[in-house]
Amino acid sequence: MTQSDKAPGPIAGIGGIVKGVWTIFMQGFKPKVTKQVPEEKLEYPERTTGRVFLNMDACIGCTLCEQICPNGTIKMVTFAFAKKEEFDKKYPNKRQIFPSVDVSTCTHCNLCEEICPTGAITLEAEIDEIHFRRENTRYSPPMLAKKESELWGDDKK
Ligand code: SF4
Ligand code: SF4
Repeated sequence: MTQSDKAPGPIAGIGGIVKGVWTIFMQGFKPKVTKQVPEEKLEYPERTTGRVFLNMDACIGCTLCEQICPNGTIKMVTFAFAKKEEFDKKYPNKRQIFPSVDVSTCTHCNLCEEICPTGAITLEAEIDEIHFRRENTRYSPPMLAKKESELWGDDKK
């Protein structure tokens, strides 16, 4: 057995422990890099394909987004005002159907945005949606127009 094969002595062991404790101690003086989401907001690069947003004024109800969505995240739903004239005045969507999106199953593939002929559906740099109840994850067309903070405030969802 050579000298290098021997187990380190007690002095080397204590030195290792001191070095480890010192390293942990010094971490306390470094700036924090973790954030307490969702209480603290994160900043994302501009091109982040985060949550799906819908501009109902631009949607024509063509259903292309629903057809291309690879996992059934998008489902077209009927949305109309009580009076048809009121609806017609506000939206160009004569079929009165708009996409709804289950934000918990969206894979952020961006296909819906790419195929939309009017730019009505987009993925924005917002991925802060935190849900504690499954029934809250399918967003209706009007919900898709709003930011998370507008939808839920500081409430747990
Ligand atoms: S980004 Fe992809 S998975 Fe998400 S809603 Fe659009 S098509 Fe569906
Ligand atoms: S969001 Fe775009 S692709 Fe989807 S139904 Fe509306 S216009 Fe068509």
